[in-house]
This record gives sequence, structure tokens and C-alpha cells, in this order.
Amino acid sequence: MSTDRTLAILGASLAGAKAAEGARQAGFDGRIVLIGDEDTAPYERPPLSKAVLRGEEPPETTRVHDDGFYAEHDIDLVTDHVDRVDPERRTVQLAGGDEVRFDSAVIATGAEPRPLTVPGAELDGVLYLRSVGDSLRLQAAIRDASRVAVIGAGWIGSEVAASACQMGADVVLVEPAPTPLYGVLGETIGGVFAQLHTDHGVELRLGTGLRELRGTTTVSEIVLEDGRVEPADVVVVGVGVTPRTELASSAGLVVDNGIVVDQYLESSSAGIYAAGDVASAWHPHYGRHIRVEHWANALNQGPTAGRNATGQRDAYDRLPYFFSDQYDLGMEYVGYAAKDDAVVVRGDLKTREFVAFWHRDGNVTAAMNVNVWDVVEELRAIVGADRAADLDRLTDPDVPLAEVI
Ligand SMILES: Cc1cc2nc3c(=O)[nH]c(=O)nc-3n(C[C@H](O)[C@H](O)[C@H](O)COP(=O)(O)OP(=O)(O)OC[C@H]3O[C@@H](n4cnc5c(N)ncnc54)[C@H](O)[C@@H]3O)c2cc1C
Repeated sequence: MSTDRTLAILGASLAGAKAAEGARQAGFDGRIVLIGDEDTAPYERPPLSKAVLRGEEPPETTRVHDDGFYAEHDIDLVTDHVDRVDPERRTVQLAGGDEVRFDSAVIATGAEPRPLTVPGAELDGVLYLRSVGDSLRLQAAIRDASRVAVIGAGWIGSEVAASACQMGADVVLVEPAPTPLYGVLGETIGGVFAQLHTDHGVELRLGTGLRELRGTTTVSEIVLEDGRVEPADVVVVGVGVTPRTELASSAGLVVDNGIVVDQYLESSSAGIYAAGDVASAWHPHYGRHIRVEHWANALNQGPTAGRNATGQRDAYDRLPYFFSDQYDLGMEYVGYAAKDDAVVVRGDLKTREFVAFWHRDGNVTAAMNVNVWDVVEELRAIVGADRAADLDRLTDPDVPLAEVI
């Protein structure tokens, strides 16, 4: 590796900051330019719907690295928006007018919330949650709210509903599917989360979408597709995110629900890599491209992309992992289940202490521990095994998880 090479990293959040760290740890001694358009040092987002939103932790605690890390590791942290990448000329054009030349690049531009498109979506009081600023704005709004409506009971919507409820707000949670988290967990396990929210006083409106928001300048009520009208002076939109692929598309890279990369996280343009929420990566275990919108994926893909962009050739084959905390329920999920995979349970759904396994003819595709701890490595081994598990042993709490496969 020669010192005159430049690695440009586009997007300075978890995946981007970890890409810079990974390149330096691998011994890269060229120039690293880490460019992000948020006016803050790289930070992690999970606390923004949890402790930071509830005002229990200041946002500074979510920083990816300590102050001083970037200077100590000779990483140029540039605050600007990247307008364009030119793979032929090997340049990046910044909105502020500067041009950065690169030898290799990592695109880590993440994802952004999908906007509501119903009438009234532009009213004041309709809020999204992605950044620290969003979280602090939402915190203030929830404190002043008479009633909070959360649209969408995916992970973000469910966590915001829980936090708003813990902050003392009246909360209604609207979801067109039959249960919260239905798309990932299915009806049986999604039902556990429905009961969890109900037990804490959140009003659920399931099986119905949103037709319209009403108000003069500020939202005052929401109208559901089934005709019901719910008062709400704060509306939080959690209807999913879309990968920020504009730079890649305009540069001619292959994009298909994310920047398409191989198992080395390299895109269709040699020397340009992608990591985190924006990357649709070939996964050797699943034998297809998957795009994962979770913290651990950004945390681990970032360094792999940074290392590979500076000369190594490591395949990224970690199983997807994520976690969520809602009220007193903590959970972790390993793997990637398809919608029609069957589910079996070890433990008790009613007391919310269990491990759920999704499987296809006994081959476990994903597992989730709920209020059961220190089992993730065993679950990883079960999900990662290339053979079917005995379902009776899988669900028998007397058989240690380490002996199931
Ligand atoms: C509120 C919230 C709670 C979450 N909770 C959990 C959780 O409990 N568990 C879990 O597993 N995951 C959780 N996640 C998901 C997790 O935070 C994401 O998977 C992770 O942030 C992805 O990191 P990333 O670096 O790939 O992208 P991002 O975090 O989206 O960062 C991309 C960065 O690139 C910048 N950028 C984009 N385009 C440009 C451009 N053209 N020029 C310059 N900069 C640009 C963006 O401004 C941003 O700073 C949560 C997410 C949110 C929003």
C-alpha cells in the first residue's frame, strides 16, 4: 500500500466511520476522507428511539468514536453533501464546490424514511425519526402532546410507541397488518408484541391503513381507512425506509433495492464498495442478495468494506443480527426468515420469555430470543448449520441449545 492512495468514504455514520477504522486497522497508510452531510461526528441511531428520545441519555453518548479518534488516526472528517461520484475520473464532487480525488471508495449513504403520501401529510406535527435532531424534536413534541399517533408498527414505530407511552403520552398505534412487526415476525410472534403494547396502554388500530390527516396548520386528527377518526396532535411516521442510492445510480452502478455488491462488498464498478443500509450484498449462506437495515450490519460490513477497499479480500458472511427494546422486553434476532417459514417456540409466549425459531423443513433460517439472555452464539450456530434440526429437541427447554444441532 502506498501512501499516495486515497480512500474516499461517502456517508459518515456507523458504516462509514467503521469503514475508516477498518482501513486503518488493516494498515492502510494512505489518505482517508470521510464525508458526511450531518453536522455532527458519526453517531449510532438505535438510542434515538429509546433512551435519547425519552431524555434519559444525551445524544453525545451515541457517538461511534471518542472525540479525537479521527485526528489521531489521520482521518479527514469533512462535513459536506456529496453531489456526484465519477467512477471514470475517480472524483467525488461536493456541494460546497470541492472535488476529492480517490483511488477507491466506500459508499455508506444509508437509508431515509419513506414519506407519507396521504392528504395532510405536510401538516405541522407530522414527524419522522432518523437523526439526532429528529429525536430531540420528537421528544419535545411528545412532551407537549395530548395524543400521539404512530403510523406503522415496524421496529421504529413500535419502539417510538413504547417510548412515548413510557414518557406518559396517550398513544395510538396504527398498522395495516394484523399485528405489529407482522412482516418480520409473522402473526404468532407479532401477537406477543400486540399484547405487550396493549398491556402498557397503547391503543392498537390493526388491520387498517391511514386515509388522511386533518388539521388547519397543525395536525389535529387522523382518519383511518376503515373510517375511524382518531384525535392526535403529534403524528410519528414509521412506514419504512428507502436506501439512499442516488449517488450510485447516477454514477452508473448497478442498483436494485440498494447498491448491488458481491460478497466482498464491491459494486459493479471496480474499486467502489458499499456497506450498511444502502448495500444489497450477496450473502454466501443464503445464496442471494440481501439488504439489511440494522445496526450490526453497518457495524460489521463497514470495516470489511474499508479493508477490502484498501487491498484485502474478505468475504462478508456474518448472519444478520438485530435487537430491539420495548418497555421491559428485550430481544435479539439472528438470521433471515422468509415470510412463509414456519415458526416453533421454546418457552412461554404469555410470560414473554422464549426463543422462537423460524424454519423450512427443519432448516432453521432465523431465531429470536425474548427476555432470554446469553444465547446468541448458540442461536448463531443453529441458524448457521447447513442441516435440519430436530424440532422436538429445538423446542424442549431441557435440551441445552448448544446440543440441539
Ligand atoms: C431511530 C432508529 C432506531 C434504530 N434502532 C435500531 C435497533 O434497535 N437495532 C438495530 O439493529 N438497528 C436499529 N436501527 C437501524 C440502524 O441505526 C441502521 O441500520 C444504521 O444506522 C445504518 O447505518 P449506515 O451507516 O448504513 O446508514 P445511516 O445511519 O443511514 O447513515 C448514512 C449517513 O450518510 C449520510 N449521507 C447520505 N447521503 C449522503 C451524501 N450524498 N453526502 C454526504 N452524506 C450523505 C447521511 O446523512 C447519514 O449520516 C435504528 C435506526 C433508527 C433511525
